[in-house]
Amino acid sequence: MANPNLPYLRPTTELWEPLRSSSPRPSTALGLLFSSQNGTHVINKLTNFLRTQYLQYGFREVLTPTIYKKSLWEISGHWQNYKDDMYEVTGRGATGESGGEIGEEESYGLKPMNCPGHCLLFKSQNHSYRELPVRYADFSPLHRNEVSGSLTGLTRVRRFHQDDGHIFCRPQQIKGEIASALGFVEMAMNTFGLGPYRLVLSTRPESDYIGTLDMWDNAESQLREALDSTGQEWTLNEGDGAFYGPKIDIQQRDSAGKYHQLSTIQLDMNLPQRFGLEYQVAEGEEDYNPETPGVATPILIHRAIFGSLERFLALLIEQHGGHWPFWLSPRQAIILTVNQDEAVLRHAEEAAAKFSGFRLLANDGTSKPPRPLSSVDPTFLVDLDTSAQTLGKKIQRAKQMKYNLIFILGPRDVADGGISVDITGQLQSKTDIGGQELQKLVQSQLGESALKNPKAVKLKLEEVHPLLVEFEKNFL
Ligand SMILES: [Zn+2]
Repeated sequence: MANPNLPYLRPTTELWEPLRSSSPRPSTALGLLFSSQNGTHVINKLTNFLRTQYLQYGFREVLTPTIYKKSLWEISGHWQNYKDDMYEVTGRGATGESGGEIGEEESYGLKPMNCPGHCLLFKSQNHSYRELPVRYADFSPLHRNEVSGSLTGLTRVRRFHQDDGHIFCRPQQIKGEIASALGFVEMAMNTFGLGPYRLVLSTRPESDYIGTLDMWDNAESQLREALDSTGQEWTLNEGDGAFYGPKIDIQQRDSAGKYHQLSTIQLDMNLPQRFGLEYQVAEGEEDYNPETPGVATPILIHRAIFGSLERFLALLIEQHGGHWPFWLSPRQAIILTVNQDEAVLRHAEEAAAKFSGFRLLANDGTSKPPRPLSSVDPTFLVDLDTSAQTLGKKIQRAKQMKYNLIFILGPRDVADGGISVDITGQLQSKTDIGGQELQKLVQSQLGESALKNPKAVKLKLEEVHPLLVEFEKNFL
């Protein structure tokens, strides 16, 4: 019965397998995540969202190794201070017995953070002051050998990913970079409907800090100015900065008024020195130092917006309670057929392909593949239930699975080229604060009556894909 032109649609039987969970809830074993297709779909949405923003914010994504020799971790200081929390890996090596080169180091460490790798990358090229800031982004997996008692669900795991970024800049560029990072935070928090949040500045410790007083005063005053320019409230944590630089913490307030750490923007005057990083600077420039003629040491800024993606996923799961907004949802839409008439089934399959944004195979008897989809062709997850179950049961099932949009298609729709849709699932998703934006969009796209009677909104088939694009484009 399946239409040979539409071989990609998800088979109906899959939808009637035992329902275990209505929201993406990946399982962990010893702090190691196995994520189902649904959880992975959400995480991919997060990384795609960030990748798109990175182009605007001047970040370029890089790829760096997962393991490094012990000697690198000694340069970065991790081996001396952080070894217990790292996984040590034995390479082929020193004796030559296991086939490696004699003298080659045997010990490696799995990276717990990306900074040392990014320092190596920066060092591998010459940099003029004109091309700074250099901004690297990295989604590499990170490993930390946490004690098992400290592992909690998705919020603390042994293998995780950060939306990690490192900025190498001139001292006078700190303010601009911090202001841009704070703007990024605000944009992300608004888009995901998170907040309110507060900003906390931690400054130079009393003693045992590196660098000169001048460097600290200059950096701190730029951080203050960047904070002031946000127009948001911020607080001071005097003397609570790390020995290598001041930082800004972003803390989210929950409904009980308690604050939770989200992300951190950390200045670093230590790693660039340990790695001997430098850039060329011309005489007469503000950062020209006669003691090191022609070269200067960059400032490093560590920054993450979501922090750990796994932890951020946990936060979103809690926030949405299974009612994902359409743009993040792993169950965006489903089409239910009223009966199993051949015309209805064919119409339903064609509708599913159209709504998904899939291309059809050539209809010339050959099995030539369709033209490829480009990254700007919007595609959606549209499931299809053409089973012999009663419509009542199918609707109940689809609601249980928390589809955002439930389309119902019967013989009358075949005749008039239309379809009816229940949008209550989408209206239940807490996309924006209060849901005003979603209501406005529904009203403008579907009319006032759609909000009054959201269970049966009548649409033309052609109107559906553009509507889905609007949800996606507006992060609803
Ligand atoms: Zn870092």
